[in-house]
Order: sequence, then structure tokens, then C-alpha cells
Amino acid sequence: MTKPLPSPNLIVILGDQLSPDIAALRVGDPQQDIVLMAEVRSETDYVPHHKKKIAFIFSAMRHFAETLRQRSWTVDYVALDAKSNCGSLTSEIERAAAEHGCGRIYCTEPGEWRLRNAFEQLAKHMTLEILEDDRFLCNQEDFGTWWKGRRQPRMEHFYREMRRKTDLLMDGDKPVGGRWNFDSDNRKPPKPGLTFPEPQRFNPDAITHNVLELVDNCFPHNFGRLKPFWFGVTQQDAQAALDHFVTVALPDFGDYQDAMVQHSPFLFHALISLYLNVGLLDPRDVCVRAEAAYREGSVPLNAAEGFIRQIIGWREYIRGLYWQEMPSYVDRNIFCHTSPLPTFYWTGETELACLNICIKQTHDEAYTHHIQRLMVTGNFAMLAGIEPKAVHEWYLAVYADAFEWVELPNTLGMSQHADGGLLGSKPYAASGNYINRMSDYCGSCRYNVKEKTGPNACPLNYLYWDFFDRNRDTLGGNPRLTQVYRTWDRMESIRKVTVREDAKRFLRTLS
Ligand code: FAD
Ligand code: SF4
Repeated sequence: MTKPLPSPNLIVILGDQLSPDIAALRVGDPQQDIVLMAEVRSETDYVPHHKKKIAFIFSAMRHFAETLRQRSWTVDYVALDAKSNCGSLTSEIERAAAEHGCGRIYCTEPGEWRLRNAFEQLAKHMTLEILEDDRFLCNQEDFGTWWKGRRQPRMEHFYREMRRKTDLLMDGDKPVGGRWNFDSDNRKPPKPGLTFPEPQRFNPDAITHNVLELVDNCFPHNFGRLKPFWFGVTQQDAQAALDHFVTVALPDFGDYQDAMVQHSPFLFHALISLYLNVGLLDPRDVCVRAEAAYREGSVPLNAAEGFIRQIIGWREYIRGLYWQEMPSYVDRNIFCHTSPLPTFYWTGETELACLNICIKQTHDEAYTHHIQRLMVTGNFAMLAGIEPKAVHEWYLAVYADAFEWVELPNTLGMSQHADGGLLGSKPYAASGNYINRMSDYCGSCRYNVKEKTGPNACPLNYLYWDFFDRNRDTLGGNPRLTQVYRTWDRMESIRKVTVREDAKRFLRTLS
């Protein structure tokens, strides 16, 4: 008698798990097991994602499925418009397990608490094993130990440990160049006449064209411009984008990291977060590449260090914080801000040039760089008292690189200070003066950045003081804000009254 074949395992691969050696694939056998990949409405619709973001993820998924097939895997790929599409990942797993007679199901832990929780519920009645996602440089257990062992677990301390742990930019046990952090060299405003390299763009192939048509048909009312679509969608594309960045932009990345220039959305930024976040690039490889460029002498230390810090420092720290603090983190609202998100976050129709420029860029590219996110759209929302959860949902929807584990702490913690200082020691609040120094936006604005109050004054100027005045009970004791409150206290009473009145008048226009 021939022995019956063992039942195949079902290997679940999510849209941000497009790494050929991801944990769930490592436990499987291409000759026998089935890979499940599914485009489902529950994932596209929980916030109204940007059209380019949906197209990027679906096209990258379809290309990854092709790669797996070439490596002898059997892939059960469920397209969004397939008649049999069950609509959610958990129901697709149940369907595929029954259809293929799978005994065990393996998946790599999802990057969002919402989905991880859904999978844990499923595991109660199916033989589903959730494997650790080891594509990060610091695992959750190590981060948890570090986090709980400190009174003030700040990113800079974590970063130094990560430098030692990864041996990146180290000379023995000392940081290369004698300093851990070269950020003070990295805050140059844009010089007139400065030119910027173009990012690496990719032409859509037949698979991407099909996806673009699908997105056009299925998401006609979603935010964002779909075409031209030029993101890379394969491992090779992502590698080419990284090579391009290291060669043409990384040398100046550090100097102009915080600059903002109208008509130049990308400056010297890498544009790789979307590739890192779906698994097309590996964070360690990216850092090794940047360090090699420094050691070869083609990139200065302040640029290489600044770039590597973002990845082994901020990116890992943000992820660690997310898993330590969820699920309650999403509801933090230390200032009790309750105003709805102004409609212009979706239309760009506002007279504030800085917001108009950044929101239009978001609409067209599904991208703005860090300072635009932090100091323009984020800063305004915080000063205007917008509900942090509404701000979070906007960021999660509109950027191609937005996945909750990385977006939420950046938005709610770093940009809104809604976590009361867990992530940052003081709010990133700025008046028009900062935007005027770091950008060329104010020249085209209908408001005057030099005027502090009155109908033509830059609204950020009085909103800034109104924010600190309103939130004195929460922020007044912060030693890093002593100077801010001292300046406010020295202001003439009549000016304070005008600031409060102007802010009230302006905020009324938002609703
Ligand atoms: P570069 O400026 O060239 O930096 C290089 C890389 O460093 C990035 O690709 C990214 O992987 C990493 N990095 C830099 N800063 C951070 C950071 N603060 N947190 C995590 N990684 C970082 N990043 C996301 O990947 N997804 C998001 O949804 C996201 N939402 C954000 C929301 C707000 C309000 C803010 C202030 C920041 C957010 N960031 C997010 C962080 C950062 O803005 C983006 O990673 C960066 O702009 C991506 O563009 P880039 O690849 O050109 O990055
Ligand atoms: Fe923004 Fe104020 Fe400058 Fe206008 S003047 S672009 S509102 S900072």
C-alpha cells in the first residue's frame, strides 16, 4: 500500500512581507506547500488609502508571487476583483486551508496590532502558527527589556546601543569620527540656486498596468493621483533605487535633511521607506551600503551617520515603542484635542502656502519628506487642536510607506505629542519663522510671516502662542519649555489678548 501524501502546509504572505527569506517561507517546502496571497477589501478600506499606495502594494505583491512561482512555489493568489474573493484575510485563510486540505498554517507576525489580534483569534480554532518577524535589527523582547529598564527611554541612547550591536560606523568600541551623532551639522536651510538629483523612476510593466486599471476602476474616489506611477515594484527595482540614492543623493543627504523647497519634493532624500516597509529592501543591507560608501570616501560622515541613524535608530525605536504601548497608544490625547481634521487636508485648498504645497505634493506623489510631515502638516494639526486619532488616520491613508507600526508613533507621538512625551521630550511646535528659515514657501503665501497678529499675519505665529497658552497646565512644568513660557509671560497683556482672539477667529474658519 502506498503511504498517503502528507497534507500541505499553508504559508500566508501579507502585502508587507515581500522578502524571499521571510520566516514563514523558511519553514515551508516549495515542492509541497501552498503560499496564500490575497488582495482584500478589509485591508484596502479600513482607511481610504492613496491610490498610488494601493497600486504599489498590489503590484509588488503580484511581482513577488511571480518570483515565488519561479522558485517552484505553488501560489494561491487572490486578486481583488476575483469573483470568489472572500473580502478579508482571515476568511481567505479559512477558505484556502479547506480548499487545499492544509494541515498547518504558518504566517509571519503581522506588522499591525489590528491584524495580529485577528490572527491570534483565528489561531484559537485553527492550527495557525505565528512566527516572529526577524527582518528587524532589534527584536521585541530585547527592545522590551531595554524599554522597561529605563526611566526615560530616549531614542539617542537606544541608537548608541544599536551602533554597538550592529558594529555599524564603529572603530572598535568607539564611534567613527569620535561622535555618535552629527545632527548639528545637518540643519542647513536651502541655498538659492541649489539643484537636486531626480529620484530613480521605473516604467510600469504589464503587471503594473493591470493593477493601475484595477485601482482606477475599484477606487475612483480615493485620495491621490494615480499616474504617472513610477515606484519600483520588485527587489531589483528597490536595489536600483538604493544604488541611485547612494550615488547621487546621499553625499548631500545630511546637510539638507531638514530643508523644504517648492517644486523639488524629494531633495536629497532616499525614497526607500516604501521598499523597506514592504520587505523589498533589508534594513541591514541598506546601512551596510551607506557605510561602505563612507569608507570608500564618496560620502561624508555626517551624511552616512545621519542616514544610518534614521534606520537603526528611529525606525527600530519606533517599532519597539509601537509594540510596547499598543493597543492603548492609539487613543492617547494628552491635550484633549477634539477638532475634526480640516477638509483641506484632502483637497489642499487653503491659503496657507506651506500646507497647500505639502498637501498637493502628498496628493500627487503619496510622499512628503520627514520635515514636511512633522513641521508643516503635523505642526499645524497640533497647534490647531485637531483630534490626534483623526490626524493618525490621515497619515496612515495618504503615504505610500504608511503602515501602522511606523506611522502611528511618528504621528501621535512625535508630531502631535499626544502621548504626553513618551517619544519626544517636548512638542515639535513651530511658528512661521521656522518654516520661513527652512523653506522657500513663505514667498508665495498670501500671509506675511513677519507679522505676528492681525488679518495678514501668518496664522502659525499666533496659533503657536495660543497652543502654549492653552496647554500651560500640561506643558508649563517641562524644563525644556522654560524659555518659551518666559517669553510668553513677558509679552504685553494687550498682545496676549490679540493672540488669543486671532487664534479663536482663525480656528472658527476651519470648521
Ligand atoms: P529619508 O529621509 O531619506 O530617511 C531614510 C530612511 O530612514 C527612511 O526611508 C526610513 O526608513 C527611515 N526613517 C527616517 N525617519 C524615520 C522615522 N522617524 N521613523 C521611522 N523610520 C524613519 N515613515 C514611514 O516609513 N512610514 C510612515 O508611515 C511614516 N509616517 C510618518 C508620519 C509623521 C507625522 C512623521 C513626522 C514621520 C513619519 N515617517 C514615516 C518617518 C519619515 O518621515 C519617513 O520614513 C521618511 O520621510 C521616508 O522618506 P525617505 O525614504 O525619503 O526617507
Ligand atoms: Fe506657512 Fe506662514 Fe509661511 Fe504662509 S507665511 S507659508 S502660512 S509659514
